[in-house]
Amino acid sequence: MNIGFIGLGIMGAHMAANLVRAGHTVVGYDVSEQQLDRLVALGGKAAGTLGEAVAQAHVVITMLPDSPQVEEVVFGGAGLLEYGSAGLLHIDMSTIRPETSRRVAQAAAVKGIRAIDAPVSGGERGAIDGTLSIMIGGRAEDVESAREVLRVLGTTIVHVGPSGAGQTVKAANQLVVGGIYGLVAEAIVLLEASGVDPAAGLDVLAGGLAGSRILELKRHSMIKREFTPGFRIDLHDKDMGIIIAAAREAGVALPLTGVVAQLIAAAKAQGHGSLDHSALLKVIERINA
Ligand code: NAD
Repeated sequence: MNIGFIGLGIMGAHMAANLVRAGHTVVGYDVSEQQLDRLVALGGKAAGTLGEAVAQAHVVITMLPDSPQVEEVVFGGAGLLEYGSAGLLHIDMSTIRPETSRRVAQAAAVKGIRAIDAPVSGGERGAIDGTLSIMIGGRAEDVESAREVLRVLGTTIVHVGPSGAGQTVKAANQLVVGGIYGLVAEAIVLLEASGVDPAAGLDVLAGGLAGSRILELKRHSMIKREFTPGFRIDLHDKDMGIIIAAAREAGVALPLTGVVAQLIAAAKAQGHGSLDHSALLKVIERINA
């Protein structure tokens, strides 16, 4: 299949590489040339323009930071709606506002382009291993035609509802992930301040009811204060805005989400935006300094 892949960052580069390895023809585009070189080294092709990546594609995948970048790629003059041919399938795997996904799908439909929202969970490790969890919003027939490609990228692939529903599930995911990071950070601060070895303490937690993928994968790096992203604080801060907007739209109050959003905003304000989101530990430490 000819696949246009837009956005070759921490996640997109690995996902595109997996599609190349699965035998697809991948034409990538990124505003950063450095990212394109990585794809070419892996056997993919680099497009000089966005239109070039889209024009010959059966499927276009976008893996971009936020709603404005997806809007630019879809609605921009030289973008997907302009260059995509009728019948094209657009799979947006970025984490963006559900409302933006719905608008993209509606505008695409007018041009005969099928669009689904398919954000992911599983982090860089999941992108490398092709074991992402993928939550999909869109029409059932479009979701079915996306499965062949999505199976290369993930292992848990669930159609959760109509257009935008994938993004709402991703918002729920980010709310839980942010909360767990905050609590693991507080557990480390408590253990260390009490003179208990945090490594031994978190090993026990990881094997009990408090166990989670975050404890499993990130406890050692957090204790060592290694905060190379991974998933940047800046992006999680963006996600907290998406969650709060979705909660407002749904008319519900999420008090713990509010606290986590403020901790992540504090991490950003303290200059940690480019660190991994596990750097929430720095905020809890500073509160206690
Ligand atoms: P990233 O910032 O590393 O990558 C985004 C890429 O998009 C960059 O290479 C950037 O140059 C490119 N880009 C930006 N604007 C563009 C444009 N207009 N046209 C073409 N390319 C453009 O981000 P990431 O960590 O790979 O995350 C991508 C998306 O996936 C985000 O929405 C994020 O919230 C989500 N996500 C990330 C993770 C993670 O662990 N990093 C996990 C799940 C979901």
